[in-house]
Amino acid sequence: DDAFKVTPWDVEGMVDYAKLIEEFGTSPLTDELLEKTARLTTSELPIYFRRRFFFSHRDYDKVLEDYENGKGFFLYTGRGPSGPMHIGHIIPFFATKWLQEKFGVNLYVQITDDEKFLFKERLTFDDTKRWAYDNILDIIAVGFDPDKTFIFQDSEFTKIYEMAIPIAKKINYSMAKAVFGFTEQSKIGMIFYPAIQAAPTFFERKRCLIPAAIDQDPYWRLQRDFAESLGYYKTAAIHSKFVPGLMGLEGKMSASKPETAVYLTDDPEEAGKKIWKYALTGGRATAKEQREKGGEPEKCVVFKWFEIFFEPDDKKLMERYHACKSGELLCGQCKRELIERVQAFLKEHQKKRKEAEKKVEKFKYTGEL
Ligand code: SF4
Repeated sequence: DDAFKVTPWDVEGMVDYAKLIEEFGTSPLTDELLEKTARLTTSELPIYFRRRFFFSHRDYDKVLEDYENGKGFFLYTGRGPSGPMHIGHIIPFFATKWLQEKFGVNLYVQITDDEKFLFKERLTFDDTKRWAYDNILDIIAVGFDPDKTFIFQDSEFTKIYEMAIPIAKKINYSMAKAVFGFTEQSKIGMIFYPAIQAAPTFFERKRCLIPAAIDQDPYWRLQRDFAESLGYYKTAAIHSKFVPGLMGLEGKMSASKPETAVYLTDDPEEAGKKIWKYALTGGRATAKEQREKGGEPEKCVVFKWFEIFFEPDDKKLMERYHACKSGELLCGQCKRELIERVQAFLKEHQKKRKEAEKKVEKFKYTGEL
């Protein structure tokens, strides 16, 4: 069964990304667009683009044109603070950082403590505000430019309400319902929320580019329906694939299944044990069989994690692929190598996260636009 489902709140099954481009009506991120990105930034593309972790877009061609013509653009992304962030959450932020650095553009990061409070029955408003602070540390730790990065928390950044009002008049209930799947039981705060989420796409009179996982696309489709009628640009987006959890390539890493995720605040030792115990491999039943037949990296989460984030060197990634296929490399060894990379990443990240505590005020945006 190859059924899969992708909505903003749920990703199930083995995702067929080419099919998703058709279903969502987005465009593939072509070689041509990536080459143009490399040319305009005079940089080598990072692995997220080279290996097509970002694979789809809307109007990214126009973003590049605007940049080329000196009109510029700005970046917008966000985080729903409902719990600790894991590796799957942070990877798109690294890609965003690359874009900010190379294009030298402003980035707005919306922390939706209001949304998570409204949408998650079990969370109090205090919970989501606490998680907001916690998650902001992880985001700052990625290394964004403090002079060009504006992190704002909806409950504090009250100006956003004023901006949401004209938007709220453009979205009717059935449009929002089609995207969010509201029911009779949905809280009225949830129904207003799409207006709050669209507001940052109007923060500057330039084209907005949103780097986000493809499951978020429906929100922006809504924005694209009314943006021009308010005198703004339809937002552009580049879409990433999902980072799989430890236990399988299907779906995405999920905070609701803690054993399948590596959290950014996990003790590196514990994270290592978790990977050792739970990471699905494409290995054979016995070492003997694996030496004879080779492993199956295309079915392997360990390999996928190397590919997405933990092996930046293309040549070394290919070597690992062939060593696996030929039966030369066994899963124990391969897993240990991944664990080392993940632990080194966590240690470095946690150090930067600690330093971020002193930088929160510098990044936080509460003022006038
Ligand atoms: Fe996966 Fe590595 Fe085992 Fe190959 S050797 S199946 S890449 S864990």
